[in-house]
Amino acid sequence: MQNQFVQKGITEIQKYAKAILGNKNYVQKKLAQDPEYFTKLAKGQNPKYLLIGCSDSRAPPNELTETDPGEIFIHRNIANVVNITDLNLNCVVQYAVEHLKVHNIIIMGHTHCGGVKAAMNRDSVGGLLDLWLNNIKNVYEKNQHLVNQLENEDDKVACLSCLNVREQVLNMWKNPIVQKSWQDGHPVMIHGWLLRVETGYIEEVQTDENIPENLSNVFRLQFKSPPKPAQTQQSNGNDQTSTGQIYQQMQNKLVTEFKNFSASSQDSNQETQKQMVDQISGIMQQDINQKEENK
Ligand SMILES: [Zn+2]
Repeated sequence: MQNQFVQKGITEIQKYAKAILGNKNYVQKKLAQDPEYFTKLAKGQNPKYLLIGCSDSRAPPNELTETDPGEIFIHRNIANVVNITDLNLNCVVQYAVEHLKVHNIIIMGHTHCGGVKAAMNRDSVGGLLDLWLNNIKNVYEKNQHLVNQLENEDDKVACLSCLNVREQVLNMWKNPIVQKSWQDGHPVMIHGWLLRVETGYIEEVQTDENIPENLSNVFRLQFKSPPKPAQTQQSNGNDQTSTGQIYQQMQNKLVTEFKNFSASSQDSNQETQKQMVDQISGIMQQDINQKEENK
């Protein structure tokens, strides 16, 4: 029994040591490519994106997007939740938007998400976890009629993950820091991503929630001072340009780039995945149509 315990301890230490060794290899490889790599990094960061992702170990933002340290400011929690009272998350958002001047916030969910799956299940997973999962349960409760149309459990989880991304995008638009960024002439865009763990590809979640002007008036803050003109590369300097127009210009450019990239890298043998995506997209479109009818 004692030997088993010692052996287990040795195995675990070996696993831990692998990470330390991995770091030494990483440093050596980087220095071989550029001897100044780390001294340049030490001068500061200028990330282009803030990514809110799931803590799941299969969803590492830098590896998935072939980006380097310094390019993505990252916050991760279970099931990529944008909880309005999360002090940690809100500090990250404020720093990213107001100090790092990040223009793009990405909410990235993923298929086979344990948090989403647990939220669909009524079995308790522990006090704090159950409390946190209520964020996802709320999304499930609103969308049960959509999710439960699917039979396969993995498809249901994928569908709810997608709907959860939409919900969290909407929550991010409700954030006063984000809304003030438009007022301050530094418009922030919010994007929804779904990582397909089974293929490695990221899909953009395109919904009406991506457009700031679709946010309900109840949540759209009015600021005392007049808005400053947007300082974006795409801005033509015309102060009359609406927030929605600026957003659309930036969004269209990004979507075009993303589609070009996807077209050049997409594996042609993805028929099954495509069918599943079409099925889920159809259900989501049904939801959008229903919302339109209710307006
Ligand atoms: Zn997850």
